[in-house]
Amino acid sequence: MRKLFMAGNWKMHMTESEALNFVKQVKPLVADVTDKDMLICPPFPVLSRMQDALKDSNVALGAQNMHFEEKGAFTGEVSGPMLKAVGCEYVIIGHSERRQYFGETNEIVNKKLKAALNHDLLPIVCVGESLEQRENNETMKVIEAQIRESFKDLITADFKGTGADLAINDWSQITIAYEPVWAIGTGKTASPEQAQEVHAFIRSLLPKEVAQKVRILYGGSVKPDNVKELMAKPDIDGGLVGGASLKPESFAGLCVFD
Ligand code: PEP
Repeated sequence: MRKLFMAGNWKMHMTESEALNFVKQVKPLVADVTDKDMLICPPFPVLSRMQDALKDSNVALGAQNMHFEEKGAFTGEVSGPMLKAVGCEYVIIGHSERRQYFGETNEIVNKKLKAALNHDLLPIVCVGESLEQRENNETMKVIEAQIRESFKDLITADFKGTGADLAINDWSQITIAYEPVWAIGTGKTASPEQAQEVHAFIRSLLPKEVAQKVRILYGGSVKPDNVKELMAKPDIDGGLVGGASLKPESFAGLCVFD
């Protein structure tokens, strides 16, 4: 049985005082949540303060991106060890906005994924098709290529076989997020059926020993009023949420439903 996982991606929102205020307000609202894992991914400058603010809470801390190198002349970048040092447990990798605006390819995602695992960060690897790709009936082809290339060297050569290169136990560290690009920040949500179809497909691509254990989150305009029906689908194991994770009541509404 996979535990539901609600992850907030704050993107480029929240100054330090706004972030501290959010945490102060959200903590009591989600204090009793034990049936879901919860995560917020604030911007880099506030991570360190968030580490203190979230101490003794049931909300974990994550980053929105990382570089694959450990250190070096990479102006403006942040490495895995730096994220660990400010208390990050998780890191989002390959978000569609990184792919779209910052040229991240599946090859880069693959390097980042390996670096995250090497630095004991729990990666949330994002995949998803554009509107044009969906309309051209290319969704499954695009998703398969994203998974195959992003997980290169980490899944079996024949891809659906057994002997995964990534140790079976290591798969417990990995989360995948299916985020159709056309649904992110647009207010358009994939229907639960559309999302379930892709989630089941992604699961079918994973090594069979681990497929039932890996959590696959849905992202794309998830809100308190549509979260329940999405989460009712058998292969949807949580949400990666942007806009609706920015307000304490709304984030809590994603985490507290039955
Ligand atoms: C996201 O940030 O990954 C996302 C899905 O954003 P939103 O919930 O605003 O669509």
